[in-house]
Amino acid sequence: MKAAVYEGPRTVTVKDVPDAKIEHPCDIIVKITTTNICGSDLHMYEGRTSFESGRTLGHENMGQVVEVGSAVRKVQVGDYVVLPFNIACGFCKQCEQGLTNYCLTMQPEPALAGAAYGFADMGPYQGGQAELLRVPYGDFNALRLGEDAVERQTDYVMLADIFPTGYHATEMAHVKPGDQTIVFGAGPVGLMATYSALLKGAGRVWTADHQPDRLRKAEEIGAIPINTSEQNPAEVVKEATLGLGADNGCECVGYQAHDPQDHHEDASLTLNGLIDSVRFTGDIGVVGVFLPEDPGGAEAQGELEAQGKVPIDFGMMWFKGQRMGTGQAPVKKYNRALRDLIAGGKAKPSFVVSHELSLDEAPTAYEHFDARDEGWTKVVLHPNGHGNGHKR
Ligand code: NAD
Ligand code: ZN
Repeated sequence: MKAAVYEGPRTVTVKDVPDAKIEHPCDIIVKITTTNICGSDLHMYEGRTSFESGRTLGHENMGQVVEVGSAVRKVQVGDYVVLPFNIACGFCKQCEQGLTNYCLTMQPEPALAGAAYGFADMGPYQGGQAELLRVPYGDFNALRLGEDAVERQTDYVMLADIFPTGYHATEMAHVKPGDQTIVFGAGPVGLMATYSALLKGAGRVWTADHQPDRLRKAEEIGAIPINTSEQNPAEVVKEATLGLGADNGCECVGYQAHDPQDHHEDASLTLNGLIDSVRFTGDIGVVGVFLPEDPGGAEAQGELEAQGKVPIDFGMMWFKGQRMGTGQAPVKKYNRALRDLIAGGKAKPSFVVSHELSLDEAPTAYEHFDARDEGWTKVVLHPNGHGNGHKR
């Protein structure tokens, strides 16, 4: 089968790899119809993780079941399914509590938790930017879709990661109807956090980034854009809230946050921006990725950050009595409800999509998305068919 394989920093090639096959009676094999490139893939693409050369990328996957293992009971051949990026067993101490983001048994390192497809430090699993994907514990991990699966595939595929992840940021931040919420980052995840806050009935949502095309998308769905190359988000928000700040905030950028002017990386930028922008006792949800070590970041950020140490304004955070939630999103906690919002016509997360391409076009797509080129907000790949003409 064909797959998009990581070959080293900034090199992805599409080549033949062995077909995905059933390895355990609970596995299913999914023919991938729809798979996205994620901001998380870019950390790997840039060589800023321990991701191994020769591995297939892709953790935002949807497709049609073509084979089921002998112990699979619910999922059937022919079903359209969307797969949470987390791979989980369903029976460990963490999964029992709904914490599939930190499943204990799918992660082979005893001291670690959490597994994902085609992802650094999250188990040996291949990614889904390929014609076929092996899904462990298919009955537990696959979310089945209705008859509109193909028609709405660019909406449903967002259930694999960014829609639930953006929603999770708003859950950790405790966004409620009427709240005033600030989101740092207008990438796909920031746009989904913005969208989720608005779906929850937030009174006012600001979205901060320096990319005008992404800010335009935020504005289109009803947010107030803040261009960080012109304005300081904390000042804008305080000015609008009697000096108090937003009720809560979401971090959707991660450790490669950078200065809008000189592009110098500074992993503390957005965290400090949030501590400043959010009011006393407000909550902050951090879904942007931060790493325990970032050797590749020594040059960009300094020795401290290379060791995963991020200098944040903890004194101010403590003084303000704020709380911060962090980590990978437990996709399964939200994907069913969000699916039904899509099915009911109440949510349309595909507004983030800028490009639908064939798998062969993955190398070019990585290049443009990594450069955050104007107009490349979210790329959807179709491994078993052709892209439908590039730009939407
Ligand atoms: P992306 O890289 O496309 O978007 C990041 C955005 O942040 C860009 O638009 C960039 O211009 C902006 N940005 C950079 N520095 C900034 C700053 N100082 N202030 C404001 N904005 C700034 O990535 P994405 O797909 O939107 O993902 C965002 C983050 O979320 C990544 O770190 C990704 O790995 C992470 N992620 C986490 C989870 C999870 O489960 N926790 C899931 C998916 C993605
Ligand atoms: Zn992702």
